[in-house]
Amino acid sequence: MKFGGTSVGDGPAMLRATEIIGSRRERRPIVVVSAMSGVTDRLLDSARLAGEGDLHSALAVVRELRERHEAAITQVVFRPELRSQTDEVIGTHFAGLELMLEALALLRETGAKAEDAVVSHGELWTAEIMAHALESHDIPGTWVDARQVVITDGTFGRAVPDRRMLAERAHAYLDAAVRKGQVPVTQGFVGATLRGTPTTLGRGGSDFTAALLGAALKVEEVEIWTDVDGLMTADPRVIPSARSLPEASYDEAAELAFFGAKVLHPATILPLVELGIPVWIKNSLRPDAQGTRVTSQTPRAAHTVKSIAWKRGVTIINLRAPRMLGAHGFLKAMFEIFERHGIAVDVVTTSEVSVSVSLENGSAEAGLLADLETLGEVTLVRDRAIVCVVGEGLRETPGIPARIFKALSSVPIEMISQGASKINLTFVIQDAHAVEAVTRLHEEFFA
Ligand code: ADP
Ligand code: ASP
Ligand code: MG
Repeated sequence: MKFGGTSVGDGPAMLRATEIIGSRRERRPIVVVSAMSGVTDRLLDSARLAGEGDLHSALAVVRELRERHEAAITQVVFRPELRSQTDEVIGTHFAGLELMLEALALLRETGAKAEDAVVSHGELWTAEIMAHALESHDIPGTWVDARQVVITDGTFGRAVPDRRMLAERAHAYLDAAVRKGQVPVTQGFVGATLRGTPTTLGRGGSDFTAALLGAALKVEEVEIWTDVDGLMTADPRVIPSARSLPEASYDEAAELAFFGAKVLHPATILPLVELGIPVWIKNSLRPDAQGTRVTSQTPRAAHTVKSIAWKRGVTIINLRAPRMLGAHGFLKAMFEIFERHGIAVDVVTTSEVSVSVSLENGSAEAGLLADLETLGEVTLVRDRAIVCVVGEGLRETPGIPARIFKALSSVPIEMISQGASKINLTFVIQDAHAVEAVTRLHEEFFA
């Protein structure tokens, strides 16, 4: 059971989470928590401030966070002896963070390694508080340190877990606790190298933690508890009329996550697919609402299109190379350059003499462009958005593309791509047109 930032965002949210966990007690849950909503961003601020030498402001952020966590403790840990225990533990973690920020300020240390060490405190606090909150409600919660379990490489900021070691340790620490009748609570998003240096799995990575642990322990189900009624026909913050989907396939959920549906971290589905472990996405504010069940089955959908995802902040690189005409090895050379610079591309389209790829704004640094220029003429456009229409129905139902393009007739489309899975149609458009495009498509398929 994974609880996201808003689902542990304050005392009342933590109480709801406690109740939900209690309701699953006989199913022997393992709990994964995110930091309280907004805390990861604030911790990143504090790391940056300290690294710039502004220790005063960095510590002001810590004070603000401390107040927020202390307020939550008084609301969720009722028994006096447990409360003073919790205060003490959390106090120790805060003192550790302050020392760390002092060190960063003295050394003017910035960068992903320092950020990971600071930012990993958010999940540490919520995991400790939730474990004590459970205990306070007569549920034998116990904190298990994710840094002992989720062993990763040293790619700070987006570390890659070692699945074999993770499985061994998940058994040794988490399963062992469950067998003792305990309810382990661990940090999402956070891991450590074998030497114990804290790492993180990338923003939104708590979902991924839950999936990794679920796969390692071959659990019956993974539940992602969030602030909406499951996977929806579009982001409800943009399309207020979006509806929740009772079911989705692994492929659909993976495509939606990859193309910007923030409700699920893009890496979440993969570890679970091979074992056929279902994922539920559920609303911690309305635990009785059905939510979405994601499995390998192609759901019996009334709609041929399932959902529309979008992602902003996209850059397109166009590479025009007349000598590509009839040449082989060109794409290899091009993608070797992306590999060398450690850059992931999202959408790719090709013509006889040109290739276009989309990547995140900010990832196209000068070195990459210079290397690409050895292959041909490079142009770059920023502030694009990817819009992606997803549904198993796209595979066989004729006429859907026609409806999509009709709905988008007033929007200039700059790239079009259909994935090999044939369940998505993806476009790149100007960012300024993105809301209009998603709105039109949603009206066409879900009005
Ligand atoms: P958590 O903190 O629980 O991990 P996130 O903020 O990461 O929650 O993800 C939940 C948010 O994802 C929702 O509040 C919603 O705005 C957004 N979202 C984007 N696309 C979708 C979608 N297709 N279905 C549901 N939610 C979506
Ligand atoms: N707290 C982390 C973040 O904000 C991880 C997560 O919420 O999944 O990115
Ligand atoms: Mg999330």
